[in-house]
Amino acid sequence: MENVVILGSGIAGLTAAIYNARANLKPVVVSGIKEGGQLMLTTSVENFPCFPKGILGPEMVSKAREQAKKFGARFEDGDVKKVEVKGKTFVVTTDEGKIESKAVIVATGASARMLGLESEKKYFARGVHTCATCDGIFYVGKEIVVIGGGDSAMEESLFLTKHATKVTIIHRRDSFRASKIMQERIKKNKKISVIFDSVVEEVLGDEGKVTGIKIKNVKTNEEKEMKTDAVFLSIGHIPNTKFLEGVVDLDEQGYIKTEHNMHTAVPGLFAAGDCQDRVYRQAITAAGTGCQAALEAEKYLEA
Ligand code: NAP
Repeated sequence: MENVVILGSGIAGLTAAIYNARANLKPVVVSGIKEGGQLMLTTSVENFPCFPKGILGPEMVSKAREQAKKFGARFEDGDVKKVEVKGKTFVVTTDEGKIESKAVIVATGASARMLGLESEKKYFARGVHTCATCDGIFYVGKEIVVIGGGDSAMEESLFLTKHATKVTIIHRRDSFRASKIMQERIKKNKKISVIFDSVVEEVLGDEGKVTGIKIKNVKTNEEKEMKTDAVFLSIGHIPNTKFLEGVVDLDEQGYIKTEHNMHTAVPGLFAAGDCQDRVYRQAITAAGTGCQAALEAEKYLEA
């Protein structure tokens, strides 16, 4: 019987692991298939305090993991499949086996949202991508389309200009929701152009690779085809919480409902990071809620 099992090894889970390990609770971290979470897909993190020159996302994850291990956190491979409440304890089933624990902190993060087109599925990883830092390198000297209007779309577009000759951002509305500073950077970059009020209706391809897209202007209903070598989707994320359906309350988008201080309605079950945060979704807020969940779990175990 473990004291606390932390599901997920992104910055929320790792922060919880550091705190619970320093409290000598010997936490077990189930790493998940997307080990390290979304920071693994980021280049420079410029808004996390203490790093005036920025820090690479994967470097931040690796340092946090080392820190958690140093204080006694144990890492288990595998992805969580099920959490069962058995009286006052929990049974966590992963694809590697079962772990029993007195408390559980869910920090399983979120995954990239897709448009839901058949053609997008057909060309996924063969021209349709969700991570510029992972796959941008395949498009040196090519033309790329980025879908979305948030900070991620801006960040991915700027990154992609390092490889591509031209980046076109396509956004469904007439204004971006991204922060002003990111919008300014987009405006200043000569390789980037923007198409507003438009949605992608189909990804076009030939011989297994993307050759273009069909887009529609939502105001005029005008449809047109445009040439592109790749489509990068940057349209937000969906919380990784499906395995918790029926166990704990989720909102209509699947985010875990936390009552106060990262407690869920189930005693001993806590949530932290992007799986419960539909508003801020920052590395610093994920780390902050990881800390809160860990301290609350500690109090719960003492009681
Ligand atoms: P986001 O802010 O939720 O933006 C998602 C974008 O995708 C929105 O512009 C949305 O359009 C669009 N979208 C959603 N579903 C769509 C669909 N089915 N078809 C077409 N477009 C769709 O997500 P995000 O950009 O990933 O950012 C998430 C959080 O991380 C935010 O809080 C952001 O500030 C933060 N972040 C910060 C930085 C940074 O500070 N450097 C970098 C990355 C992310 P609408 O605008 O019309 O809703």
